[in-house]
Amino acid sequence: MDRNRRHRPLARFAARATLLVWLGLVPVVATALGDSGADGDFDRRDSFHFTLFQDVDLDESGGLRGSRNFEQAVLRELEAAFDRLDAILALRPEKKILVYVWDETVFEQRFAGLFRFPAAGFYGGAIHVRTGDRVSPALVRTLHHELVHAAFDLEAPRLVLPAWMNEGIAEWFEARASGKRTLSGGERQALRRAARQGTLFSLSELGARSFSDFGPDAARLAYLESYAFIDHLVRSHGERGLVRFWRAVVRSRSLDRGSRRAYRQDLETLERGFRRSIGAS
Ligand SMILES: [Zn+2]
Repeated sequence: MDRNRRHRPLARFAARATLLVWLGLVPVVATALGDSGADGDFDRRDSFHFTLFQDVDLDESGGLRGSRNFEQAVLRELEAAFDRLDAILALRPEKKILVYVWDETVFEQRFAGLFRFPAAGFYGGAIHVRTGDRVSPALVRTLHHELVHAAFDLEAPRLVLPAWMNEGIAEWFEARASGKRTLSGGERQALRRAARQGTLFSLSELGARSFSDFGPDAARLAYLESYAFIDHLVRSHGERGLVRFWRAVVRSRSLDRGSRRAYRQDLETLERGFRRSIGAS
């Protein structure tokens, strides 16, 4: 996944596409988890805002992977991400957030069937990520991304946000937290190409609760377009505008009311502006 990220910026969406698992998938995840870990016993570690579980059996057999240093490093990254989330998006969950760290093989066995494309991690009532021998830049981004889903879930537990908003803000935040301020040249090109080919999705086509049913190519474009739309909103109306937008949507429980309150425009007008910005009509 790291290799894909470095050499083929767009391939990361297929290779790593982290995804939202919203309310609809939570029961599936609960079933997949069962009542316990692989061996029925989780090792627990707490930080101020997070509780992290790692399977004890994996910990003992995992050598470097099982190192307590890894768990501590994950919690440090999450706490730093928590502060960034507050500073950039004014999202500050009150409740502790649960995190599960899984062995790669166990993660594949248990969760691969939930998605039609490979996932580096996901949120389904708790943040789930694969273990590793170090906290790689890719894992840091995944933790930032999933933290957005966790924060929205805790902020508005019964509100199902459209995937373009939830995934778009998660993608935007993970990029923003790593210092990336806008779309790369390659990402713009990919959007222009999709526009020329007539394959861009409309916002309403990206309005399901998750992209888990999308195939790899469609998911890659769906994540990119969602990120690009949020990036467009931020470039046009600033980061504070994005905070006003998510707050207005959560409070009014309506995308249209939220967009009119935050941007003084309806969603269709915002979408037309976005499509013009990427060279689509
Ligand atoms: Zn996601």
